[in-house]
Amino acid sequence: MKTKSMGYVHKKNTWLVLILSLCFTASAFSQSDKSKAKNVIFLIGDGMGVAQIYAGLTANQGTLNLERCPHVGFSKTQSSDDYITDSAAGATAFSIGKKTYNGAIGVDSAGIPCETILESAEKKGLATGLVATSSITHATPAAFIAHQAKRSMEQEIAADFLKTDIDVFIGGGLRYFTQRADGRNLLTELKAKGYMIADSTYDLTKCKNGRLAALMASDYLPRVSQGRGSFLPVATQTAIQLLNLKSKGFFLMVEGSQIDWGGHTNETSYVTSEMIDFDKAIGIALDFARTDRHTLVIITADHETGGMAITGGDMTHGKVEASFVTKSHTGDMVPVFAFGPGAEAFSGIYENTAIYEKMMNALGLKVLK
Ligand code: MG
Ligand code: ZN
Repeated sequence: MKTKSMGYVHKKNTWLVLILSLCFTASAFSQSDKSKAKNVIFLIGDGMGVAQIYAGLTANQGTLNLERCPHVGFSKTQSSDDYITDSAAGATAFSIGKKTYNGAIGVDSAGIPCETILESAEKKGLATGLVATSSITHATPAAFIAHQAKRSMEQEIAADFLKTDIDVFIGGGLRYFTQRADGRNLLTELKAKGYMIADSTYDLTKCKNGRLAALMASDYLPRVSQGRGSFLPVATQTAIQLLNLKSKGFFLMVEGSQIDWGGHTNETSYVTSEMIDFDKAIGIALDFARTDRHTLVIITADHETGGMAITGGDMTHGKVEASFVTKSHTGDMVPVFAFGPGAEAFSGIYENTAIYEKMMNALGLKVLK
């Protein structure tokens, strides 16, 4: 009985070794460099400094998915014309790798349009996507796909979506596509280009393939505390599933847009509820990356908002007391968290523009300077 079972174990181990070595050989062919990633999921918590993260962790009774990231660094957020960045210059630093002026969308400090990481990825045949809880034409997502002098030009930004072949975008901002000064109906145009169009009543979990343009609100989505439900984690899951159908890999940016808005209004519970919701999207991305093993996940912020400080708390009951020193952004460094192939490169302290280079390098794309 003993010998028999040991023989079985031995046989099983031989098979296991054989299967494992086959797997390693296969992955060595497809992924020769361990620092290279097939996919990048880039998650931006707008206005998310260390205090916002820790307030969220405390409100969530002591844990966040974010803690699963083994590599942490810091990003210097200053823009080209101001010590305190706005979200447009902050996101453009990530998308084109250049410091630019506050308000700039995908253009450099001289106002010249520069190819974004999303556009470079698309050129190389990767699938691309954007997800946000603001309008999809708002500064942060806009900086990855549009080239406009000012962030307020949301109708022009919406039209820039049609100049690309982005595979999936999910957020608010329907009115910038349909109620336009130029009379164009961009939804009709998107449909003609082969996009499946979804509105606020659409169940995102039902979308299983194809290109998706989901505009789930006229402008921004409601606060999570006011009925947004599981929109952000579901949208993140939907985007990953659709993009992963393409064999060449993908670049996806997901924004927790409203952490920033809680900072602007100095509302601790707005910050913590948005932070916890954003962390659910982080969990979806990390779960995918853990199984996929060729996906680099980066989580960071464009800047801190509110000068938030935690003045008291209770992990057991998830209570947080905080105060704010401003209703604007601050100049702090913000943390960067990384998981997956190439994650080590995100340790240290560097300019926000370096995040562009590190992501481009991880995807094997040529850094444009
Ligand atoms: Mg934003
Ligand atoms: Zn802001």
